[in-house]
Amino acid sequence: MKIKDIIASQKKPFASLEIVPPLKGVTKDELLDSIRPFMEFKPPFINVTCHRDEVEFRQEPDGSFTRHTVRRRLSETAVCASIQAAFDVEVVPHLICGGATAENIEDTLSDFKFLGIENILALRGDSLLGEKRFTPEPGGYRYANELVEAVRRTYGQEFCIGVGAYPEKHFEAPNMETDIANLKRKVNAGADFIITQMFFDNAHFYEFRDRCRFAGINVPIIPGLKPLSSAKQLEMIPDLFSLDIPQELVKELQAHADDKAACYQIGLEWCSAQCADLLKNDVPAVHFYTMGRPDNTVEIIRRHF
Ligand code: FAD
Repeated sequence: MKIKDIIASQKKPFASLEIVPPLKGVTKDELLDSIRPFMEFKPPFINVTCHRDEVEFRQEPDGSFTRHTVRRRLSETAVCASIQAAFDVEVVPHLICGGATAENIEDTLSDFKFLGIENILALRGDSLLGEKRFTPEPGGYRYANELVEAVRRTYGQEFCIGVGAYPEKHFEAPNMETDIANLKRKVNAGADFIITQMFFDNAHFYEFRDRCRFAGINVPIIPGLKPLSSAKQLEMIPDLFSLDIPQELVKELQAHADDKAACYQIGLEWCSAQCADLLKNDVPAVHFYTMGRPDNTVEIIRRHF
C-alpha cells in the first residue's frame, strides 16, 4: 500500500521506523531479530537507508595508487526483500543520487518494482568523505528534485515518493526561505510526503511546518525523532546532522556523562516528551531513527501508540 493512502486512511497517528542496512557478514536472522521487537506495534512502514560506496586509494607494489570502491553494508534492496518476506509491513527503500548514474538508478527502481515495492524516499545523498561539495556522477542527478522528476517521468504514479526536509535548515542552504523553496521544487516534481531530519526541540518543527504551509507545501510532513543514549552523542549528532541540541538536554547528559544507564534514561524521557507533544499537535505519524538500537524506541512507542 502507498504511504499517502496509509496516511489518508488512518484514524490516528502511527509510528514508523528507519533502519540502517547491517554491515556485510550479519545474517538474515540477526537482521530480522533486530526488527522483531517493533512488530508487536504493527508499524505501517519501515524505511531502509541507502549508502553510497566508499572510495579507497590503495598503494600498489610499484608505488602507484589505484582507486577502489568499497561497499561495507548490505544493499537496501536485499534488506527490503528480506523484511517484506518476513513481516507484514511496507518497506520504503531510500534512493540516493550520490555515486549513481541515471542508468544505475533506473536499474535499482526496476528491482524495487520487481519486488512489489510501492514507496521510496528520494534523496540527493551526502558528499564523499573529503569532498567539499556534492558532485553528481557524470550522467547522474545533482538535486533530489531531479531524481523525483526522473522517477515520475519513467514510472508515472507507480511509486509513492517521499523526500527529506530539515526543520533546522539543510547545512548547505543559505537560509531557510531558500531551503523551503527547494523543498517545494521536490513537491512540485511529484513528491507525495515529507520526512524530516531529527530535531530535539519541537519548536523547530512547528515553525518549519508553518513556513512550509505558508509556502504552499501541502503534502503530509512526518516529524523524525531519535532518542539520544549517551553524552558522546552530544558531539557526534550536531556534527553529523547540522542541528542544535537544547541546553537543558546537554546539561542533563553532561551531568551524568559517566553513567550509561542514566544517559540512556535521560535521552529516552526527552524523546518520549517530544513524541507526546507532537501527538497533541496534529502530526500524521512520528518517524523514529532507530540506528540499530531498538530498546529505547520500543519503549517510547509502547508508551504512546
Ligand atoms: P536536496 O533536496 O537535493 O537538497 C540539497 C541542498 O541543495 C539543500 O541545501 C537544498 O536547499 C539545495 N537544493 C535542492 N534543490 C536545489 C535546486 N534545484 N537548485 C539549487 N539548490 C537546491 N543520506 C544518505 O546518504 N542515505 C540515506 O538513506 C539518507 N536518508 C535520509 C533520510 C531523511 C529523512 C533525511 C532528512 C536525510 C537523509 N539522508 C540520507 C541525508 C541526505 O542525503 C543529506 O542531507 C543530503 O545532503 C541532502 O539530501 P536531500 O535529498 O535533502 O537533497
